[in-house]
Amino acid sequence: MAPQPRKQFAQHWLRSEKALNKIVAAAQLQRSDRILEIGPGTGILTRQLLPQVQSVVAVEIDRDLCELLVKKLGSIDNFLLLQGDFLSLDLNTQLAFFPAFQKPNKVVANIPYNITGPILEKLLGTIAQPATEPFETIVLLVQKEVAQRLSAKSGSRMFGALSVRVQYLAECEFICDVPAKAFVPPPKVDSAVVRLHPRVVEPPVNEPKHLEMLVKLGFSSKRKMLRNNLQSVVERDRLTHLLEQLEVNSQVRAEDLSVQQWVTLSNTLTSSSQSPIPNP
Ligand code: SAH
Repeated sequence: MAPQPRKQFAQHWLRSEKALNKIVAAAQLQRSDRILEIGPGTGILTRQLLPQVQSVVAVEIDRDLCELLVKKLGSIDNFLLLQGDFLSLDLNTQLAFFPAFQKPNKVVANIPYNITGPILEKLLGTIAQPATEPFETIVLLVQKEVAQRLSAKSGSRMFGALSVRVQYLAECEFICDVPAKAFVPPPKVDSAVVRLHPRVVEPPVNEPKHLEMLVKLGFSSKRKMLRNNLQSVVERDRLTHLLEQLEVNSQVRAEDLSVQQWVTLSNTLTSSSQSPIPNP
């Protein structure tokens, strides 16, 4: 029997074989892979991963679950369980105590949805401070709406500030839907699997802080045209002119610009002497 789920840790046990198989397939596992799993729970995904890879390092916050996991999987050589809060844990420091476990190259996890944003930030970094040693691949089960935002194309309704921030740091693919009934207890929302490949965007941004500020302001009011949202940092006429240079209609909304266009816009604004960089 799976233990009674705790709300405070956003515990929902995956019970669908089909969903598990899809997560594992999305990770395109190699024997040499070293996996990081966040929130192993009762170990249902962990168990699938272990025989296929070099190692699995799992970080679980719930002490009772850790005891259970040690009983179930503790004797398996390539499994390392770290008890603690993933958000405050320094993985490199912890791993230094376990020479047999090298730094993971992939993340595969059914994460606690209440901390999705902070987990993404810890895994990828931010525009201003991208992760210095990024993972090759990150496969996550997340709330469906988050998966849609992460993988949205510019010009679509789902493309928002999160899309720009994450797609600046990683290529994002929507893999598949996972219905709420695939979990016990079922969450209130539907879920989906996403796969992220961290990469460096081209062209690079000259002033990352400026781009962060521009995206935040640009999306501050979704109904407004971009030039109105950015009024406090760029004169409307000037922005109209810049957008024309980018061959973009001057009436666009924030969601219509691609990540590359956001970067170009920021670079143009920061390279011109007429426009001092506003303090974000
Ligand atoms: N992977 C399991 C459990 C998913 S539920 C499955 O698919 O069935 C989310 C898991 O994340 C729970 O086990 C919960 O205890 C754990 N968790 C919640 N917050 C955490 C945190 N900050 N750090 C590490 N694990 C956390």
